[in-house]
Amino acid sequence: MVDKKLVIIHCSDEEIQPGLDKWLSEQGWLVNSRRFSLPGGGQLLAREGLGQREEVLKQITKAREVDKIGKVSLINHSDCSAYGQQNNFKDQLAEQTAHLIDLEIAQEVLEVELLGLAVENYYAFWQETGTSRQLLVKRV
Ligand SMILES: [Zn+2]
Repeated sequence: MVDKKLVIIHCSDEEIQPGLDKWLSEQGWLVNSRRFSLPGGGQLLAREGLGQREEVLKQITKAREVDKIGKVSLINHSDCSAYGQQNNFKDQLAEQTAHLIDLEIAQEVLEVELLGLAVENYYAFWQETGTSRQLLVKRV
């Protein structure tokens, strides 16, 4: 159960949606939440140079006023097209590190700009099992 209303910010990449929906459902987060589906997830908040930070903050502020949002969950994921996909990185660790750095920056931006919001960061990644792969999500 979600004690405070939640904003979930995740990437708009199509291939993660089924696995993400399943995970969000397991968390009980499909109710009592608002979802922001943005290219790169937390990347737009982390990287001011992309020019979307203010707009995202404005939308969250609006959601907060309307819905009494108390918490934001930021979800980035591996093999993300906004990050040039996994081949853009030397290895999985380098890829994860880039995401964790952006998530930390995005969290800081939210905490500074929108005082009183609790922010949690998550990283979704693919686990290969034989011929299929499954999206797993961990708190980071
Ligand atoms: Zn993505």
